[in-house]
Amino acid sequence: MNEKDRKNLNEKIYVTRSSLPNFDDYCNMIKQIWNSHWLTNNGELHERLQVEIEKYLGVDNVVLFTNGHLSLENVIKAMNLTGEVITTPFTFVSTTHAISRNGLTPVFCDINPNDYTIDVNKIESLITKKTSAIIPVHVYGNVCNVDEIEKIAKKHHLKVIYDAAHAFGVEYKGKGIANYGDASMFSFHATKVFNTIEGGCIAYNGSNELANILNKLKNFGIENEEEINYIGGNAKMNEFQAAMGLCNLKELNRNIAKRKKIYLEYLKYLKDISGIKINKIQNNVKSNYAYFPILITDDYELTRDELFNLLKKHNIYSRKYFYPITNETICYKKLGYETPIALDLSNRILTLPMYSDLELNKVRKICKIIKEKK
Ligand SMILES: *Cc1c(COP(=O)(O)O)cnc(C)c1O
Repeated sequence: MNEKDRKNLNEKIYVTRSSLPNFDDYCNMIKQIWNSHWLTNNGELHERLQVEIEKYLGVDNVVLFTNGHLSLENVIKAMNLTGEVITTPFTFVSTTHAISRNGLTPVFCDINPNDYTIDVNKIESLITKKTSAIIPVHVYGNVCNVDEIEKIAKKHHLKVIYDAAHAFGVEYKGKGIANYGDASMFSFHATKVFNTIEGGCIAYNGSNELANILNKLKNFGIENEEEINYIGGNAKMNEFQAAMGLCNLKELNRNIAKRKKIYLEYLKYLKDISGIKINKIQNNVKSNYAYFPILITDDYELTRDELFNLLKKHNIYSRKYFYPITNETICYKKLGYETPIALDLSNRILTLPMYSDLELNKVRKICKIIKEKK
């Protein structure tokens, strides 16, 4: 190993690193903005990105937003949900806040220990007369049991909105993941597989009725110059975000292929370590390799927190993701929902560094530390 390689290997390694397009490509793209002086409000780049994402996801309708969280808040509002919404606590707090900020009560359902998504066997016992929807999360890009969720929703006349913030590019049974449920929310935050700096969208199959409402809600409820028909806010995606999206979308499949290589490298070196359980790619699923979570069981000599600190000592920054679960935060603890499996897993899971440019020798370095426990 030469000096340069050694130095490179000793750099800090963060859990993620934003994908950036070629700088000149981005400059060329934003030149158009200077020519048109059109910075936001359905500009040309916004329109182009919307169409490209519809194609990429294989759905009829995409509505772009300034971030994923406001996409979710607005789709909940657009569907006029009432009362209670069944959801998972094993998520980023955005999911729960989006429900609560709409004046609805989140009802926490435990998760299954295999893929960390909502436990479909526990949903029905939580349904009451007040339940209006289910908001599950495709955690780490793992696909929820969409078939069973659809059955339950049909039987009880509930809406289903997926938090698909982790699942851009994921396919299930040969179809884009946004083809399931009444709507799906994607996040294009800087840390996600596909980013528009900040950004997000709602995607779904079906008529454009919902899209029309969402397009008004994200722009103050303005129908036309003289009519305001909805109590909307401001959640529009601007042209600079759209430009980043158009550039990054071109690179996305290549980036996912690089992530797959990293996934396989981790797998190769971690699969035989006693007490480390790796997140399996599910049957019938085309993964986007968004995250690399490991579960630390009692067979491993260190606790999750000890391993987290050990890695940190080596300048490797993993993440306790998700910890805490949202029903354990001060905002929601008073609701009194206990989810023992999610609670246990949130104390055992660590996501390891995963981004498309992560060098394989760094992956091996991380694996070596996990194996040697020193
Ligand atoms: C990132 C994320 C969000 C929020 O998306 P933003 O674009 O950051 O607003 C919501 N839910 C989950 C599961 C996420 O990971």
